[in-house]
Amino acid sequence: MGFESFLGNPLAVQTVRQMLAKEHVPGALIFSGPEGVGKKTLAVMFAKALNCERRKPDGDDFCGECARCRKVDEMIQTAREDLERRRQIKEAARRAEGLIYFDVQLIEPITRYILVEQIRRLRVTAASRPFELPRNVYVIDPAQAIHWQAVDLLLKVLEEPPATAVFILICPNAGELRATLRSRCQRVRYLPVEDQIIARLLREGKRAGQDEMDLAVRLAEGSIARAKALDLEDYRRRRQPWIDYIEALAAAPETGPPDWSRLFDATRTIGRERGEFEAALHIGYTLLRDLSEALTGRVEGVSNLDLLPRLKAWSSRLGFRNIARLKEGLDEAYRLQIRNVNPQMGLDALAVEAAESSPRG
Ligand SMILES: [Zn+2]
Repeated sequence: MGFESFLGNPLAVQTVRQMLAKEHVPGALIFSGPEGVGKKTLAVMFAKALNCERRKPDGDDFCGECARCRKVDEMIQTAREDLERRRQIKEAARRAEGLIYFDVQLIEPITRYILVEQIRRLRVTAASRPFELPRNVYVIDPAQAIHWQAVDLLLKVLEEPPATAVFILICPNAGELRATLRSRCQRVRYLPVEDQIIARLLREGKRAGQDEMDLAVRLAEGSIARAKALDLEDYRRRRQPWIDYIEALAAAPETGPPDWSRLFDATRTIGRERGEFEAALHIGYTLLRDLSEALTGRVEGVSNLDLLPRLKAWSSRLGFRNIARLKEGLDEAYRLQIRNVNPQMGLDALAVEAAESSPRG
């Protein structure tokens, strides 16, 4: 196996393969684009290709089987386990203690941030020659999580990158990174993966019957990771409280004020488990976007295809103004969540907001 096994984003693959073929590999790269399209996977493949025993001088692929290719997998796996172990450490001050970096190293947040100590260790390791492999590759994911106090330190490393090292900064949107960082990196852009590739993946994994395929492809939204994790039954279960909620709001114009108890019951179901909150919010945002798309007749933009007739009915009852206000309420719930406030509060605030903004509420 080699780059052939990578799904989607042919331009990104072509870009890195050309770097290899021409032996013109920049010291620092930014891989930017949506979540779940394989940015980290390609970064690890690139690390293998840079080190593969069987790659010829002008070769642009890796074997995935030689000792060095396997070493890269081993290093990445060990780094993953080490990061996970550190995240469990209760005392914050001890989480970055005794960091050891391999020649190919994955650098991810231990807390909400990639800590100053992690970047300090990177600087020390990058300054010395690789230990077991010909090339050092440092994969930083996501780069926007680097603690602000560590950005200058990373800049110093990137100013004089060692000839044997390649830094790969992964992020959803390069615009979130400081301009001084961006200017030192060559950018490789990723796009959502084409629907036909997602459909093929789903068919191979038998993730959905043919009748459900269209819905599954839309829900994957161009993300390989989401397509692989997709469980339609589970999705429908999680979506139900939102449906009840929107249905109650859409019904409000004719039945008087919205049914408060029903709204709060729905929000309680949604906010029960904190870990599920982000996923639940995503469902909410997708439904609100679907409402706008349904209202303007852009059916091709609707994700929840199985709800189309109901989406049309709800959206015409709610109208643009209320859909926009619902979205503002959801934005507010999201802001509360990232401020580490009890997510339940955020969703109750959303219920209040939505009720106040309903046509005759
Ligand atoms: Zn190899």
